[in-house]
Parts: sequence; structure tokens; C-alpha cells
Amino acid sequence: MTKKQDTYVQWLRDAHAMEEQALTMLESLARRLEHYPELKARLQQHITETKSQREKLGRCLERHGGSSTIKDTAGKLTAMMQGLSGLFVGDEVVKGAMASYAFEHFEISSYRTLIGAAGAVGDLETKRVCEDILKEEEAMAAWLSDHMPQLAERFLEREEAGVEAKH
Ligand code: MG
Ligand code: FE
Repeated sequence: MTKKQDTYVQWLRDAHAMEEQALTMLESLARRLEHYPELKARLQQHITETKSQREKLGRCLERHGGSSTIKDTAGKLTAMMQGLSGLFVGDEVVKGAMASYAFEHFEISSYRTLIGAAGAVGDLETKRVCEDILKEEEAMAAWLSDHMPQLAERFLEREEAGVEAKH
């Protein structure tokens, strides 16, 4: 393998690990929600998308050296992802939505990078896959952006009324 292919495959592995982490975080957030049904439904939609993204990336990785390349990433996370996951386990919906928004942008930056890298090594199938995934990440980020203000309003209203607001 050439140096650039080697680096490229590592970046693909990183993206696969990122989606594993995304799934863990989205599921833990969605599971807890009770009073924010719109957010819960959108998170569930993105959980389905995220599972599919993980499978698609897995197939891209398999074309570059088999499934063992996927296992290497298990348990390895960047410091940045660990920091974000701390926000997800914090126990309230507003922080969870903020962390989701930040995480989606981390994903967007990863796929923009991979699109360039896939082009540079001539992996046009992966490039197309990443372009499709990028659209899903951008749509999720846009939804969160649109709904963040009303989420905060609803949280504060519930808190003020003395009813459960956190989830
Ligand atoms: Mg994703
Ligand atoms: Fe995402």
C-alpha cells in the first residue's frame, strides 16, 4: 500500500469509529427523552441513518483490506469525541442537543475531508458514499439548528411550571 492509501484507509477507519460513537450517543439521548417527542423522533430517524452509514463505511473498508481493518478501531476515540460524549451523558436535553449539533459538524468535517481524500486515491465508490452520508449529516445539523431555540423555550417553560424538564 502506498503512503497515501495507508493514510486514507486510516481516515476511513476513523470515520467508522466515529459512527459507532454517534450511535452510542444518539441512542442514549433518544432513550431518555419523554417530553420532547419531535426531537426524539428526529433522533430515531438519524439512528436509522447512522446504522446504515456505519454499514456503508464498513463495506468501503472491506474493499481496502478486509473486515479486520474495522476491528482495529474498536474502543479508539479521538480526544475530541470523548469530550463531546461527556456532554451526552450529562443528563439534560438542551446539553444533549448542543452536543448533537457539535457532533454533526464534526461528522460533516470528516466527510468533506474523506470526499477529497477518496478523490485523491481514485476511490470513486467511497467518494459517492461519503457524498450521500454528508447530505444526511447536514440535514440533521440543519434540523437541530432550526429547533434549538424552541427546545430551550420548552425546557424553560417546563422548568418554570415545576414539571419535569430534563428529558
Ligand atoms: Mg453519521
Ligand atoms: Fe450524524
